[in-house]
Amino acid sequence: MDLMVKIKPERLLADLHELRKFGACGKGVVRTAFSQVDLDSRQWLIGKMTEVGLHVQVDVIGNVIGYSRNSGQALLMGSHTDTQPEGGWLDGSLGVIYALEVARTLLELPNTQYLAVDIASWMDEEGTFCGLLGSRSFCGKISPKVIANAKDRSGLTLTEVIHAAGLNEVPVARIDPGRYVAYLEAHIEQGARLVSAKKRIGVVTAIVGIRSFKLVFTGEQNHAGTTPMQLRKDAGMALIRLANDIDATYGKISGDTTVWTIGHVKFEPGSHSIVPGHAEMMLQFRDPDSQLLDRFEAVLYDLVATGKKTGPVEITIEPLGAPIPPAFMDDGLQEHIVRAAETHAPGDWIRMPSGAGHDAMVFADILPTAMLFVPSIGGISHSFAEDTKEEDIVLGCQVFATAAASILKAHI
Ligand SMILES: [Zn+2]
Repeated sequence: MDLMVKIKPERLLADLHELRKFGACGKGVVRTAFSQVDLDSRQWLIGKMTEVGLHVQVDVIGNVIGYSRNSGQALLMGSHTDTQPEGGWLDGSLGVIYALEVARTLLELPNTQYLAVDIASWMDEEGTFCGLLGSRSFCGKISPKVIANAKDRSGLTLTEVIHAAGLNEVPVARIDPGRYVAYLEAHIEQGARLVSAKKRIGVVTAIVGIRSFKLVFTGEQNHAGTTPMQLRKDAGMALIRLANDIDATYGKISGDTTVWTIGHVKFEPGSHSIVPGHAEMMLQFRDPDSQLLDRFEAVLYDLVATGKKTGPVEITIEPLGAPIPPAFMDDGLQEHIVRAAETHAPGDWIRMPSGAGHDAMVFADILPTAMLFVPSIGGISHSFAEDTKEEDIVLGCQVFATAAASILKAHI
């Protein structure tokens, strides 16, 4: 018979609700990285990890990591407890408290208590100072220069808040890949795919790659009443035409999970009586398939070239930041999660890509990595309204615990 681990649902929910109190704001939470409530919640988490019997380290960047005292290779599990400026109560917190409950449960049960589970809350996943800060620092993927230059929106530097938190003399924590069997992260879906499919568990196949671009249109600013249509160099209209062409062409070549967004447009000078002389647009697309991302990019450059040739407006295009490659979840680990889902909720799971970025993407090229999703009610996240049904929260942790034990038992 397949292994089945039983978590304690009341304890799991009690911890999630206790963590929710730090920065509670109506139904939501405001607990941005390095805010006082964030630091207070980390103290609370240290207490929880210590109670479980883990050896706790807080590092210079604010990561809180609980190391197992058991010998043998360990499973590393974590997520983040910082939030967006208007965050939900489960984004990140769910994965950290799942990790805590799994570590605690395995240590209590006679047939799993020898297994080693390390758990972590990675600092500033949400990018108050620098996105995925804690996991990137732990994996040695962030340069001291980036850390030295990181600021929040008010201009406060990361260096200042590290000093204020009394962490500047504390050593940095770095991953020892040899210690670990795998990295596992649970998260709310933050989308509507599970709800639409009427399924309760998502087994993540990949975290999507992201490419973003800025397009600039340069025409000629002029009077909106006296400039005849055939003489205009209307940067705004050129933008709208190209945007339509992009949307129509992408609709024909996209995959099942491709998404594209024009998240920003600007017309200058932006008045109803002036033909815009300048316009800008930001475009982003996401998919787990790199070849499809290449195709989307090639189509974009072709459409820009055609637009430039047709005139009369000049168009330039440049990438916004480095492309983020897709991160693939380990096939073997996915099988463990599938089996655990079949044990606790037969037929009630699907495989799916993650459209959002997560700490797991930082680990994916260092350790075999996997993620489990639970549904978000109405597909809503990064909002005070974010929520998940209690029975789904419990089921997700149940599946996660069984999968964790099965992964460790298979590897040790
Ligand atoms: Zn998150």
